[in-house]
Amino acid sequence: MIITMKRRTLGLFFAGIFLLGLGSYNMALHPSMNQWEQEQKVITSVSTSEKVVALTFDDGPDAETTPAVLDSLARHNVKATFFVVGYRAEKQPMLLKTMAALGHELGNHSYSHNYSQFKKNDIAIFQSEIELTNTIIRVATGQTPTLFRPPGGYLSERMVEFVNQYPMIVAYWTWQQDAKDWQSGKKGEAIARHVVANIRPGQIIILHDGAVNGLETARGVDLFLTQLIGDGYRFVTMSELIQMGKTE
Ligand SMILES: [Zn+2]
Repeated sequence: MIITMKRRTLGLFFAGIFLLGLGSYNMALHPSMNQWEQEQKVITSVSTSEKVVALTFDDGPDAETTPAVLDSLARHNVKATFFVVGYRAEKQPMLLKTMAALGHELGNHSYSHNYSQFKKNDIAIFQSEIELTNTIIRVATGQTPTLFRPPGGYLSERMVEFVNQYPMIVAYWTWQQDAKDWQSGKKGEAIARHVVANIRPGQIIILHDGAVNGLETARGVDLFLTQLIGDGYRFVTMSELIQMGKTE
């Protein structure tokens, strides 16, 4: 009995370490990542000497937290890119319309946000997830999204090829600019400190307006925008940043 329990505990321990490792590194270490970046099929940053970056928000829209983020952005007159989840967006067409009217870009973050669906690596699933959400965005706002951010950062050869032929771009983010703002208990100050400490021209900052910690994210946004705009940084939508990278 004791031996069995020990074995099981040990097994769980190693499984935990393995999963932690996967969670931290699977996105960065996809064997094709460098090539995809070079071919601009997956965008993680843009090459520019100007102090310009893109601010992106995932997992919304949420009736409470998204308006708080919109208020923070409005205070600094900043336009951002919101990667909305289809099933949430279709319940809030008016909020979606407001986001577009304020000048923000809407990106596609799948319909279901179900990582296990994507793991099936099935073209028909990619297609329905992307098309449903594009239609919801188009009907509510008139915008046709050009950027797709896969749920949970899912990547595969088949998915990247499908998205690029669609044609859309796989809109990733800059590793150094993942403040993990969605973690409950993370304070706005800590989120702002992470963004400010790691800032470089051409980065794509990932945050979450649609997570349970969204009000702290909104506070963090207000704090780092004050600091970084004071330091001469400009914030543009992700599509604008990609365009700047092409003309530089
Ligand atoms: Zn997400």
